[in-house]
Amino acid sequence: MKISMSNGSIEYFTKLKGLYESFFREKLKEDKFIGEKLSKLLKAINNSKRVFTETGSFDFCAKCAKSGEKCCQAGLEWKLHKEEFFINLLLAEKIGISIEFNLERPEDCLFLGEKGCSLIFTPLFCRNFFCDKLSKFLGHERLVKIQQTMEDEAIFGFELSNYINRKYLIPYFNLMR
Ligand code: SF4
Ligand code: SF4
Repeated sequence: MKISMSNGSIEYFTKLKGLYESFFREKLKEDKFIGEKLSKLLKAINNSKRVFTETGSFDFCAKCAKSGEKCCQAGLEWKLHKEEFFINLLLAEKIGISIEFNLERPEDCLFLGEKGCSLIFTPLFCRNFFCDKLSKFLGHERLVKIQQTMEDEAIFGFELSNYINRKYLIPYFNLMR
């Protein structure tokens, strides 16, 4: 039986994107704290990416994905919180890309593009996911190196998510339902 991506997640994230564009985008962009933290977060994300490349994780997962293994399955898009989705939209604009949805492959995560995850700031669940095969390939030393490097991304990401949630999402709770 095929697992199918619920139309619910497409509708949910499309609606959230519309709300971001029509209401939240300008407010978030005018906030100085957000601007500063976004720059720090982007640097931290680039450092995380670099360590994934250097340790061979990216190549290892790319080969695995090509062989048909699916670890970015439908339903995992729900791991991304609203404020994290907004952070992605802000980061995407900052670096001049757009966050595309997967509308073609219902068995895959809504954010899985042809070349991997289309998000810039991925959900905590995905950042912490190292399957047995990958952990074994990396070994203890490289795994610790990756986890240490990813700490900044986790800290800045958490601070920013928390701030956006408290200052912008909770006060407009009615809009978000
Ligand atoms: S995390 Fe594991 S299952 Fe997923 S692509 Fe990498 S090696 Fe494959
Ligand atoms: S890494 Fe990206 S594509 Fe994969 S499950 Fe997580 S959000 Fe979806």
